[in-house]
Order: sequence, then structure tokens, then C-alpha cells
Amino acid sequence: MNTTELPRCHVCRKGQLLPSTTTREFKPRGQTVRVELLASVCNHCGKETIRAKQHDENLKRLADRKHRDEYKGLLLGEEILALRHRYGLTQQAAAKIFGKTNITFSRYEHEVTYPDESTTMLLRLAIEMPEALRRLADQAGEPVPLWQERCEDRRMTLHPLPSAPAQLRVVEQMDVLTSVGSIEAPDGAWMQEAA
Ligand SMILES: [Zn+2]
Repeated sequence: MNTTELPRCHVCRKGQLLPSTTTREFKPRGQTVRVELLASVCNHCGKETIRAKQHDENLKRLADRKHRDEYKGLLLGEEILALRHRYGLTQQAAAKIFGKTNITFSRYEHEVTYPDESTTMLLRLAIEMPEALRRLADQAGEPVPLWQERCEDRRMTLHPLPSAPAQLRVVEQMDVLTSVGSIEAPDGAWMQEAA
């Protein structure tokens, strides 16, 4: 390997970053699912970091596990986290809305445990139908901080500007649809571990 092409370590500024991997393990329904994640390790100080490109690839690999048989019917921790972030809810508020304790909700997001079938149904309903989330939040007496913003997103989808070209309208709708199911790393937990 030609070491002159390797990026320099930002920690010690002496070594160079060599590609390495870490493995993250998940236990959906008690079965082991391993995802190999990319990282970089310094050949001088030994510090492990994750570069931006590696981070993007890692997110893709994490999202892909959704298609594995072990996950059939289950929500990823990232999907639950994305729902909460989408509406600006704290973990405490989300726990109250779905009738769970803070600790339980945190465990769902980090996939320490998985929601039971009825909770999964409720979460999926809230992901797919904003009104359902609103209703549950109202019942729990919890405000939805980003409700207005999300309503405005949807108005853009339902009533595109009349002057907008037809193709642009389709793209806008697709953007909104894909953002609903967007994947986020669970509070960057694995990034912190590697730092
Ligand atoms: Zn270093």
C-alpha cells in the first residue's frame, strides 16, 4: 500500500489513517445480526476515527439490515429515533405518548430491546399517519414542537405551486416520502465508541 496517499491523523498529526472495521451486533428476536462498519485507525497513536465517507457508508449498511429476515415486521431503532426527531419530541415526551417509560423508549432506539407487537403497530401508525401521532400526543397532554413545520411540509406536497412544472411536483412529493422513512444513527452511539 502506498502510504503517501493515506490521510493524516488529526489527533497526533504524525501518523496516517489506515482503514479498519468494527462490528455492531443486533439481536432482533434473539437472533444475531452483525453489521460490519468502516473506520480508520492511526498507525502512530492508534486512535480510531470515522471519516465522513465511511460514516455515510455505515448509515447505508445499518439501514440495509431492515431487509433481512430477522427484522421482518420490526422497526429499526433508527426509524423510532427518526420519528421522534421529526416532530422535535424529547425521549421523555415520546415515552409518555406511547405509554412507555423513558428507559424503555431509549432501549427501543438503541435496539437493546424491541417494541412488542402492539407498540410496533402504534409506532408504525404514527410514522405513516401524522394525525395518529398528533392524537396520541394530545391524549398524553404532550405538545408536538415541530408539528407546524411538518404540516407545512405536507401542504407543499398536497398543494404544489400552480406554476411549478409537473416534474418538479413529483420530485417534491418523493422527497417528502423518503424523508418520512429516513434513517439516522442512534445518537451517534457507535461513533462515540470509536472516537
Ligand atoms: Zn494519530
